Amino acid sequence: MLNIVIFGAPGSGKGTQSARIVEKYGLNHISTGDVLRAEIAAGTELGKTAKALIDNGQLIPDELMIGILAAKLDSLAGGNGVIFDGFPRTIAQAEELKKMLVARGQDVTAMLELDVPEDELMDRLLKRGQASGRADDNEETIKKRLVVYAEQTAPLKDWYKNEGKHCYINGFGELDRIFEDIVAAIDSRL
Ligand code: AMP
Repeated sequence: MLNIVIFGAPGSGKGTQSARIVEKYGLNHISTGDVLRAEIAAGTELGKTAKALIDNGQLIPDELMIGILAAKLDSLAGGNGVIFDGFPRTIAQAEELKKMLVARGQDVTAMLELDVPEDELMDRLLKRGQASGRADDNEETIKKRLVVYAEQTAPLKDWYKNEGKHCYINGFGELDRIFEDIVAAIDSRL
C-alpha cells in the first residue's frame, strides 16, 4: 500500500498535484478541506462548527479532525493506497495518523513538501478566491492561515524528517516539472 502525505502551505499546489498523483498511482484521495466544505454545504452541525473556524483562518480541533479522518479511512474500499491532502496539520494529527496506519499494518510511504515562496502563495490564493469564490481566499484570512501554517503545521517538516519520510519538492515553477519531481520522489521510495 502506498500512503502519501502531500504537504505545504495553503496555495502550494497540494490539490492540483494530488489529482495527478491519484491518476498515476491509483490512490484514494482524502482532502480534509474538501470533507469540511461538503459538511458546510450539507448544513450539518459539524459544518457549522467548521465554517466559523475556516472563515477565521483557524484549524479545526485535533480530536474532531482525527475522528473525521478515521471515518473517511474506514469508508475506503480498494485502491493502491491513499493520498492525504491537508492532513496532518499538527504534530498530534501526524502521531494519530501513524497509529491509524500501524493498526492497519501500514505506514506513510513518503511526505512530499511542496515549497513555494510566500508572495507567490498570496498571489495564487487571491486568484483562486476570485475564480472559485472560496470564502477563506481573501487577503485577511489568507494572512491568518499563513501564520497558522508557520506556527502549527510547518513543524511537521522536522517531525517527518525524524521519521525518515520527508521529501523536499520545489513547488514553484512549471506544473509538469513539479509533477516529475514528485514522481521521482515517490518512485525512489517504492
Ligand atoms: P484546505 O482546503 O486544506 O486548505 O483546508 C481549508 C480549511 O479547513 C483550513 O484552513 C482549516 O480551517 C480546515 N482544515 C482542513 N484540514 C484540516 C486539518 N487537518 N486540521 C485542522 N483544520 C483543517
